[in-house]
Amino acid sequence: MKKIVSLSEMTAWSLRQAKQSHSIGFVPTMGALHEGHLSLVRTARKKNKRVVVSVFVNPTQFGPKEDFKKYPRTLAQDERLLKKEKADILFLPKVTEMYPKGFQTEVKAGKLGLRLCGQFRAGHFDGVCTVVAKLFNLVRPTKAYFGQKDYQQAVILKRMVKDLNMPLALEVLPTIREMDGLAMSSRNAYLSELQRAKAPMIYLALEYAEQLIRSGETNVAQLKKDIQKSLEPVVDKIQYVEILDLESLENIKQVTGDILLGIACTLGKTRLIDNRVIKK
Ligand code: AMP
Repeated sequence: MKKIVSLSEMTAWSLRQAKQSHSIGFVPTMGALHEGHLSLVRTARKKNKRVVVSVFVNPTQFGPKEDFKKYPRTLAQDERLLKKEKADILFLPKVTEMYPKGFQTEVKAGKLGLRLCGQFRAGHFDGVCTVVAKLFNLVRPTKAYFGQKDYQQAVILKRMVKDLNMPLALEVLPTIREMDGLAMSSRNAYLSELQRAKAPMIYLALEYAEQLIRSGETNVAQLKKDIQKSLEPVVDKIQYVEILDLESLENIKQVTGDILLGIACTLGKTRLIDNRVIKK
């Protein structure tokens, strides 16, 4: 596995691959890698001649009061894990080269970026779109892989690829979980022992919601109330419990077709999200 830091070197490498008609599978990450990230890398490895993984903690997607500075950084371990997965390139761009003096152009996430997490993280999805667009331009992937864990992010990025005619395919892969159901996340490292013991309740609330729906409950207001009630005694704050149309992420009153159930809660200062797609 080769490490590339320079942006021009990254693009030069990708252009050489294109000349040889080698497909490039790309997994953008912020590092502190876990099995969720590695599942994306494994799929990229299976389906492409070359695999690029980026580790870049992108400052523009963090709000001023968020955890950019203390976001876990475990580069030596990330490198070891990626070598084992046989990634070809570990791309480690520098903030100063990604956002040099005078940088001003942004990709806006639009309406989709204002829903769910967007209500609580102003500008977050604009930051995500901008950095992912830049990474796509630098890496020039054939396919890029994202996790369902961040469902809203995947919907927004799919829309960006379509709207801006980006020449690549985007694949969304299932959420990888701990044994007790908690969705793997780099931020789980922030949890105290007690908070970690409570955290699987979010997964159990998703399970409970699916059971309610499968047993015939279609009233969204009632479902949300029941889900909130199950979470309230355990988590510190519920940011949202949303049941939305799967494609448009618009509010619905009745469950009649495929839906997205999304939850965001805090345990202490740690914000956790999870979701489930429920198909009719
Ligand atoms: P992050 O490093 O948190 O920006 O995540 C990088 C990529 O890994 C994103 O596409 C995430 O959706 C994906 N990812 C994060 N956690 C998981 C998980 N538990 N299962 C599957 N994919 C995940």
